[in-house]
Order: sequence, then C-alpha cells, then structure tokens
Amino acid sequence: MPASTRAACVVGWPVEHSRSPLIHNYWLKAYGIAGEYRREAVPPAEFEAFVHSLAARGYVGANVTVPHKEAALALSEPDDRARAVGAANTLWLDGALRSTNTDVEGFLDNLDASAPHWDRDPGTAVVLGAGGAARAVVYGLIVRDVARIVVVNRTFGRAAALRERFGERVHVARWEERGALLADAALLVNATMLGMERQPALAIDVGRLPSRAVVVDLVYVPLRTPLIAAAKARGLPVAEGLGMLLHQAVRGFALWFGTKPAVTAELRALIEADIGTSVDKPAGIT
Ligand code: NAP
Repeated sequence: MPASTRAACVVGWPVEHSRSPLIHNYWLKAYGIAGEYRREAVPPAEFEAFVHSLAARGYVGANVTVPHKEAALALSEPDDRARAVGAANTLWLDGALRSTNTDVEGFLDNLDASAPHWDRDPGTAVVLGAGGAARAVVYGLIVRDVARIVVVNRTFGRAAALRERFGERVHVARWEERGALLADAALLVNATMLGMERQPALAIDVGRLPSRAVVVDLVYVPLRTPLIAAAKARGLPVAEGLGMLLHQAVRGFALWFGTKPAVTAELRALIEADIGTSVDKPAGIT
C-alpha cells in the first residue's frame, strides 16, 4: 500500500480525549506524509469485530487505549513486551495482526533523554503503583538490568502479583512503608494516579531520597506535578510524564508510516498547549 493511502487510528471507549491524534497528525505534517490518523470510539462489545475489520477499514494499524488493552493482546500476536506487560497499546498489520506495548520504551527513552546514565549504577528502584503502567515500568527496569525493584501499592495483593509475574528481582512493600524505603532508592517512579488532576495528592517526602536519586512521574496532567516540582526544588534529576507520552508514540508511527519520528520541542509545546487549555478533559489517557 503506498504511504499516501495509509491510515491509523486510536481505538478507545471513550476516545475523544486522546492526544494521540494531535501527536501523529503533527508528525504526518512535519514529515510530509499524506497519511491519516483518526479517533475511533468503539464500545467493548464491538472491539473484536472492529479489530478484525482494521484492514477492510483501510487501517494499517492502531493505538489501543482504555478499556481495550487486554483484549488487544488476546486478539493479536504480541511481542515479548506486550506479553510480559499483559497489555497491548499498539497494533499493526504485517501479514498477521501484531502488537506491542510502547509504554516500555516510552518510559525508558524518556528516562534516557531526561536523566542520561541513570542506569550506570541503578541500585534500588522504588515503583509506586501496580497497575498497567507500573507493569510496563517494572518490565523496562528489568530489561535494563536494575537488580532490585521495590513495588509499593495501596492494594498489596496487586504488588504481590507483579512479583509473581516478574520474579525475584521484584520485592514488594506496603503502602505505609513508602517513606522509609526512600533512603536506599536510586530511582523513584510514580506509576499511580496520585498527583493527577482531580485525584488526591501523592504524600511522599522527596527529602528522604539520596542526593543523586532520579525521580520519574508518569502523570502528565498537570504538566508539572507536585512530585516533580518538589524533586526539582531539591535539585534532583527528573523525568516527566509528558515525555513518556511522546516517546511511547514513536514506534507506532514508524511501524505504520515507515519513518521514525523525532520528539521535538515544537511537538512538546503543541501538546503542552493542548493540556494547558483543556483542563476539563479526562486526564491520563493516551
Ligand atoms: P491503573 O492500572 O488503573 O492503576 C492505577 C494505580 O494507581 C494502581 O496502582 C492504584 O492502586 C493506584 N491508585 C489509584 N488511586 C490511588 C490512591 N488514592 N492511593 C494510592 N494508590 C492509588 O492505571 P495505569 O494505567 O497503571 O496508570 C497509572 C498512572 O500512569 C496514571 O496516572 C496514568 O495517567 C499514568 N500513565 C502515563 C503514561 C504516560 O505516557 N505518561 C502512560 C501510562 C500511564 P490500587 O491497585 O490500590 O488501586
């Protein structure tokens, strides 16, 4: 199929708040590619039929957002990342319907760009949260050879499930223990909803972290979270959620449109402006 006829979409329910169209249509224009990227609102009961009709609808692939990521995994041939994380967010047609989870590289590429050499002596990583995003984070940390990952979650059983999934490098701790764990942490990652607009604040004292610890927040609405602001005020290196959102989009675009796009300051400013002017949109959905 010539690039001029290529189209991709983001499939979700709801989907109108997704920022993926803004990102991919920016890149299509920037690289002069005559493709299209659309939103598709598909209820759960219709998702399987929609996925089977991707090619008939003219799509070469799709992003998948809530609530379809587990179903997307089950309906496709996943790569190691999607299988390990237990969810797929990117589909592409390649003879078969294939899938991956680009939150893994979104997390790692953003961290590499924001805090180079963070993994030179990674020590202990403390990951707050045990949902889908935390699974991508933990898998990424394992891929990068972090030896000790402590998962701390409000619901202890979900943290324990991550240890079951990823093995003995993962240690688990109770939510009340999070403050005490910071003294040994080289990396702190917030993969909970806390700190997101309309959610409770994340109660944690970054003053307890070692002086060279790196702080990552996956939350990107607001753009500057209280956790990131506190870490910056202490002079700690940080990686912000918006960077992860942008970096996770790179692979899908390359797969569908044949060009690996760059995460530029101009793209970042475009999405920042959208987030800044759309405070009423549900937060945190790619
Ligand atoms: P999820 O699967 O629903 O998991 C939510 C997590 O937040 C769980 O660990 C949950 O704990 C915790 N949580 C929620 N409310 C809490 C509270 N009041 N106190 C303590 N913990 C609480 O969601 P997800 O998909 O993993 O997303 C998590 C965050 O990552 C969201 O903020 C999302 O926007 C962000 N994210 C960002 C990107 C990016 O590209 N920047 C990508 C993916 C996700 P329980 O298990 O106890 O409920």
